Amino acid sequence: MTPGVERDAKHLPVIAERGSNAADGESEASLTEAPVDRLGRPLADLRISITDRCNFRCTYCMPREKFGADYPFLARSELLSYEEIAKLAGLFVDAGVRKLRITGGEPLVRRDLPVLIKQLRALDDRQPHPQPLDLALTTNGVLLPRLAQELAAAGLNRVTVSLDSLEQAEFARMTDSRYRVEEVLDGIRAAEQAGLGPIKINTVVRKGQNEGAIVELARHFRGTNAIVRFIEFMDVGTSNDWQLAEVVSAREIVRRIASEFPLEAIDANYPGEVASRYRYRDGQGEVGVIASVTQPFCGGCTRARLSSEGKLYTCLFSGVSRDLKAPLRAGASDEELARLIRGTWNRRTDRYSELRGEATMKLPKVELSHIGG
Ligand code: SAM
Ligand code: SF4
Ligand code: SF4
Repeated sequence: MTPGVERDAKHLPVIAERGSNAADGESEASLTEAPVDRLGRPLADLRISITDRCNFRCTYCMPREKFGADYPFLARSELLSYEEIAKLAGLFVDAGVRKLRITGGEPLVRRDLPVLIKQLRALDDRQPHPQPLDLALTTNGVLLPRLAQELAAAGLNRVTVSLDSLEQAEFARMTDSRYRVEEVLDGIRAAEQAGLGPIKINTVVRKGQNEGAIVELARHFRGTNAIVRFIEFMDVGTSNDWQLAEVVSAREIVRRIASEFPLEAIDANYPGEVASRYRYRDGQGEVGVIASVTQPFCGGCTRARLSSEGKLYTCLFSGVSRDLKAPLRAGASDEELARLIRGTWNRRTDRYSELRGEATMKLPKVELSHIGG
């Protein structure tokens, strides 16, 4: 086998592991300066996937034909423990990360999540900024009624809930689950009551499948504190049979909403925000669109992703990762791990969405359920 390339029979046809020698520049990575990648982008956010399992089988993410009963999900021992996650997250915070987002798979199916939230909240003590870390969670929402209060008490700041349709049959088709739309709406209410708002709603739009949901979701959440963000269907992973023809462009999404409820563009909340924001002209709140396919935003991408099995990815569409779990479990010092993280970021050149085309389609990519959206 080619050195540095590992065949991961479980999850990807072929996935490359970055080598770990001095030639990679990792052993020389500075521990005092904040890492900056080769395109001048700092490391500011970390998405942490805590499980590759899910209680839904959304057709665009974990289609049941590929993620069926015999799919080799990770064994518990392969997952990073909460202590391991918190330790690594601390090193990312030292490197400049200010936002942590817990994702999956479905993060709420992993037991005792509030324990991890408490450990991450405790990282406030080691970071130099006076402001607390921004701790967020992305979820399909159905377990929120049970968990929202406890998560908020543990120190979670906010949640994003995914919801692709208000119409039960369409929702069931998109998520391939037995859950009801009402259960997601209950989850959103529970999160609001627990103080985890303003809630963001993520809606993936797939042509011919849930286009009607665009205006319906906009209408439903107008005048509430929730902000719906419509996401262009993306070619993540290798399982969802993505085709450009199934993408409804952000421009078209905005056009459809604006034809019912006039909109005007507003500024981003902060540099690098992935959603383009629009407010209703009648003052009834705002919506967002995430145009990863038609208007890529790689130039401002400051996100690293830690998979549930402890691999560091520097792009959502990557087939290459840096394993952090093996050195962590082999007893690497904080300094050694910090150099691996910072060196990996320093060498980053990812801009997949800007380069998307025939050639990139054929590259091996990690499944989204492994690293979270
Ligand atoms: N299970 C949680 C959920 O659904 O919110 C968290 C993980 S899920 C992978 C994170 C986000 O990725 C969700 O909002 C989901 O809609 C989005 N997503 C999944 N597959 C996608 C695709 N092919 N294109 C665009 N967004 C996608
Ligand atoms: Fe599960 Fe979220 Fe993927 Fe849907 S999008 S299958 S809820 S991980
Ligand atoms: Fe970031 Fe990769 Fe997405 Fe570009 S394609 S915005 S580099 S995650």
